[in-house]
Amino acid sequence: MELVRDGLNRYRIPRRGKMRVDAVIYVNDYLRRFLGEDKALEQLMNAACLPGVVEPVIGMPDIHEGFGLPIGGVMAVAPDGVISAGAVGMDINCGVRLIRTDLEARHFNKSLLRRLIERIEHYVPTGVGKKGKHQGITRRIFEEVVHRGVTAVIEAGFGQPGDEEYIEEMGCLPGADISACSRRACERGEVQLGTLGGGNHFIEIQRVTDVFDEELARCFGLFEGQLTIMIHTGSRGFGHQICTDYTNRLAAAAKRYGIELPDRGLACAPINSPEGRAYYQAMACAVNFAFSNRQIIMADIARAFADVLGQSPEEMGFRLVYDVAHNIAKWEEHGGRRLLVHRKGATRALCAGHPANPPVYRRTGHPALIPGSMGTASYVLVGTEKAAETFFSVNHGAGRLLSRTAAEKKITKEEFERAMGDVVYNVRSYKDLLDESPTAYKDIEQVIQTLVDRGITRKVARMCPLAVVKG
Ligand code: 5GP
Ligand code: MN
Ligand code: MN
Repeated sequence: MELVRDGLNRYRIPRRGKMRVDAVIYVNDYLRRFLGEDKALEQLMNAACLPGVVEPVIGMPDIHEGFGLPIGGVMAVAPDGVISAGAVGMDINCGVRLIRTDLEARHFNKSLLRRLIERIEHYVPTGVGKKGKHQGITRRIFEEVVHRGVTAVIEAGFGQPGDEEYIEEMGCLPGADISACSRRACERGEVQLGTLGGGNHFIEIQRVTDVFDEELARCFGLFEGQLTIMIHTGSRGFGHQICTDYTNRLAAAAKRYGIELPDRGLACAPINSPEGRAYYQAMACAVNFAFSNRQIIMADIARAFADVLGQSPEEMGFRLVYDVAHNIAKWEEHGGRRLLVHRKGATRALCAGHPANPPVYRRTGHPALIPGSMGTASYVLVGTEKAAETFFSVNHGAGRLLSRTAAEKKITKEEFERAMGDVVYNVRSYKDLLDESPTAYKDIEQVIQTLVDRGITRKVARMCPLAVVKG
């Protein structure tokens, strides 16, 4: 594989064969060694072959192999190009939400943390295929939710009016149309609204260990020693079904439109074709579902904290910092052009003053939320003007080092326990958590530093886990 150094922490794969544009990848010397261990770079090169793709296709420092486009991939497409379900991912609008409080972490010992996560699990169903506890309401408002996003669940009593101002897209991606979703997708979705899901989805209680930028941290409501709560989940079976349905439909469409697919995982159709439009409408439904899912979960966490601490959410200073997607395709303006930007395992990070920021963060730039692992740090970042070179995108996590099966085989009990340290976790057997061991992920510090050194992003705050509810 020809990797040409292209400035600090950036490498270029020059266009060749059927590639229409170059691919670039962001790694430092430490992370570079992991390239070539999987098919991620080939997958980036495949994406560079699609009609209408805009230079460059981008790999983030947390890149690893995925379905079609690698996780940690950004692909922007011109309006006469294609839209791809695989380039958004199975878990449409998988994303991260951060909640701040006025609570000081030092007052929370292990037994209190355990009571908190047990109470959270009492309200929030966790695990693959689990059904929601608010089905009486969520079935009734399902159609409203997928069309109107979080405002529909706020009106139904989850969270506070105004929360939507702290969510990407104000918690509603325009253009959703439920008629583009299969009955099966809707059946799976209706009963799963308000659930965490399995795998690496989590609710984590954290302590702010470092503040790097006092003023920005203050604007985001963060301070050193503070207790914060992070939620990571997406659109559950609803988005999964939509991705599956449309991968089939778009693969058939691609054939009809004469699009040569380098990989079935990149099944796509012209953005303006009936199939491409339908996928966008269905994807937007799942995007709105996921924002709403995280909104309901936040309201349930507020109840759990209120039960255990005997304080109201207002008294605790419980408030949303931000909610940001990392699997999504959106229309955005870049360099004066309207582009459909696919981000899969990548997070939007707009700079201060950028007009696409939500009004509450227009002056500062919105927080970009980056989870690390349940035993290492997570970060709040902000984009800079130089992030224009990544279509204002940063990584979405540390990224996997070991596949799930490799992690289960290689990681010992001792290694796992050492990596978890004092972090309290919900799962009974450590064996069920080996695939999520902190040592199954890359070093978050190296991943973050790669983009910070490049000048694409700045650190605002760093949080470490105290307790985690794992899906
Ligand atoms: P993904 O969206 O690809 O499923 O995962 C996003 C990222 O979340 C992973 O790359 C990993 O760095 C991070 N992550 C996974 N599990 C946890 C966890 O329990 N706590 C935190 N803070 N981060 C996690
Ligand atoms: Mn997910
Ligand atoms: Mn995710």
